[in-house]
Amino acid sequence: MVNAAGKFGPYTGWDTRVLAGRGPTGAELVRSRIALRVRLGSVSPGDRLPDAGVLAEELGISEITVRRALEAMCQDGLLDRRRGRAGGTFVATDWDAVVAVMYDAEEAAALDAFHLLLECGLVAHAAGELGGELPGELPGGPHGGLLDSPLDGLRALVEEMELTDDPAQLLELETRFHLDLAQALGGAGIREFAADLLGRQCLLGPAPAPAQVRARNRCHADLLDELARGAMDPAVRAVKAHQHAEPR
Ligand SMILES: [Zn+2]
Repeated sequence: MVNAAGKFGPYTGWDTRVLAGRGPTGAELVRSRIALRVRLGSVSPGDRLPDAGVLAEELGISEITVRRALEAMCQDGLLDRRRGRAGGTFVATDWDAVVAVMYDAEEAAALDAFHLLLECGLVAHAAGELGGELPGELPGGPHGGLLDSPLDGLRALVEEMELTDDPAQLLELETRFHLDLAQALGGAGIREFAADLLGRQCLLGPAPAPAQVRARNRCHADLLDELARGAMDPAVRAVKAHQHAEPR
């Protein structure tokens, strides 16, 4: 984000919770991961969530922590507890409307800036290494190495985004791209870190409009091209352009 003075920011009012030197608390983890699942379409408004014990195992935290976090999310109106035989904890049918009330532009901007730094760092860290995996540069025939490149899965996502007209699927693919990018460039731990950031972002600001996601997807394609040829500076520029990509 470029401010009036032409500097990147915002750095003033940086939310220290973003860089507090600790992982998310159990409650934050439950909240951000459920938000991420809704964004990724693995659960939808009105759907029943897995039992607390299952969530606890999946997230690697205690069941009591999950129960408390779900209870807090019920109080916020994000989830809905129903009793009886068909009971359980459900994603609120008006999830989007409840989330819209929670938007916090300042924290969203801080998270966005932090996510940008993460991706710039990952790209700079990996650009030289991924260049060596260009299929043309590898021995072993016309397709040597092609299927092994971590960039191939990302390219497939870019193509899927090109083809879909469904706004929800566009958002899902947009989020998956950034999770998979973190995985490809930084490994599983960094993917989890990115999931924390992206899950929180889902609750802090409105989702980008379809036209804007399409504009971002052009930056995805540029990024992959630059990564494939090991061009670090242009790759970092593509990451930065993504943040301000506007529909043509
Ligand atoms: Zn994107």
